[in-house]
Amino acid sequence: MAVPTAERIGALRERMSGPVVAPGDQEYDEIRKVHNGLVDKYPSLIARCTNTADVVAAVKLGREAGLEISVRGGGHNVAGKAVTDGGLMIDLSLMKAVGIMQGTGGSPVGHVEWTNVRAEGGVTWGELNDVTHADGLATPGGVVSTTGIAGLTLGGGFGWIQGKYGMAVDNLVEAKMVLASGEIVVAREASEPDLFWAIRGGGGNFGVATSFEYRAYPLTTVLGGIVAHPLESAVDLMRLYREVTASASDDMTVFFGIVHAPDGSGTKLSALVVCHVGDEDDAAREVKPIKEFGPPIMDAIERIPYPVQNTLLDAGYPRGALNYWKSGFFSELSDEVAEKMAAALERAPHPLCGMAIEQFHGKVTRVPVTATAFPHREPGFNLILTGVWEDHAQTEECIAWTRETFESLRPHMSDRVYVNYLDKDDGTRVTSAYGPNYDRLVEVKRRYDPDNVFRLNANIVP
Ligand code: FAD
Repeated sequence: MAVPTAERIGALRERMSGPVVAPGDQEYDEIRKVHNGLVDKYPSLIARCTNTADVVAAVKLGREAGLEISVRGGGHNVAGKAVTDGGLMIDLSLMKAVGIMQGTGGSPVGHVEWTNVRAEGGVTWGELNDVTHADGLATPGGVVSTTGIAGLTLGGGFGWIQGKYGMAVDNLVEAKMVLASGEIVVAREASEPDLFWAIRGGGGNFGVATSFEYRAYPLTTVLGGIVAHPLESAVDLMRLYREVTASASDDMTVFFGIVHAPDGSGTKLSALVVCHVGDEDDAAREVKPIKEFGPPIMDAIERIPYPVQNTLLDAGYPRGALNYWKSGFFSELSDEVAEKMAAALERAPHPLCGMAIEQFHGKVTRVPVTATAFPHREPGFNLILTGVWEDHAQTEECIAWTRETFESLRPHMSDRVYVNYLDKDDGTRVTSAYGPNYDRLVEVKRRYDPDNVFRLNANIVP
């Protein structure tokens, strides 16, 4: 592997406004770490960019020096693709600007026709939500506040309000990109339409996105929260889940969870997590069957600010914990699936291990499969099986548990998989993640990154 010379490092330091960090520097060890503590890689250089020009300088240096380039947004990718071993890490985590933009679209002055939110590539969903919420707005993002907007959006991005407003990519208006050539382009429908299509689901394959602009909607509070039942109720709760999701309006999204109580007691639970964006009466009516099922161990469904909804699951994913995940879309949600999930939790080696089913419905599923690079537009359910633990001594056991649980559920699943949940040994599933859009993605990759400079991702090989 190439090593950057002291001369090149000096030249990059001169060209960049942000700091350049190398092994031996005081903050090096902290900055090279990502969300998943299992990822332990050592870049030979970290470019901590503060603006688009810094990113251009870093990409050029990386190419000139023949260094493998990784790009870090929020650092949440469980496969650890944000960090390179021995190469150049382009770190956007200092790029935190978020702003609201409004336009009149040619109508009489004062009449606002559209409201967007623009955010830089190092912003997390919690940070973005705080800014939009202050203006009574929201845009669809992830369900955990610490996830980066960059990686999540480029892979598709689904969360609590997708039924009504669609995925993050369905609301992306434009992204500013630094290409492999070092050129800066703005990808939007009207300019660079192929690139704009590809970055809406094709991941970080096409360049470094330094800012994103999304449509924003008036939304301050939701009827949301968690209702928890004993693990023994898993099959009955799954039946209720099938019923409520079969008739759910676009306003309501519900996840099904087989998890441990977050209080550290180790209590094993079956649970539903609800988010309803409709008005108070509609929300109360639709959530009623969920509140009437039971008695629950805990019912914490109430009217809460939207940013709070986006922190409900945070405690289950502490930074630095060790992660190994498996995921895929179900082809059916039978009683047997619930039985298998509950039985697996009984054997779970650590109280942070668990699994959830995410509901795909509403607006997400009305976008044609080929309209954006994100292909998973069928109504249905996605499994996210999260092996999470804290002690390296348990790594083998926890990975084995995750793999065995996934294999037991596989007969109930299709081969479709969400690109953002692929783990490090899921390489053979990359084409399934892009589905019918893969061939067009290869064409766009050939045009924008023929040398595969951006390859630390769910890679589309040019
Ligand atoms: P990073 O690790 O920084 O980057 C991920 C990938 O994107 C890497 O390949 C990286 O090179 C590339 N990349 C990052 N930034 C840029 C950029 N600016 N330009 C170009 N390429 C870039 N997904 C959902 O859809 N919905 C959820 O609710 C959700 N919840 C999650 C909760 C947790 C706790 C975790 C760990 C993940 C969750 N995910 C969710 C998955 C998430 O979308 C992916 O992990 C995503 O990659 C995270 O983006 P990031 O910027 O934080 O990651």
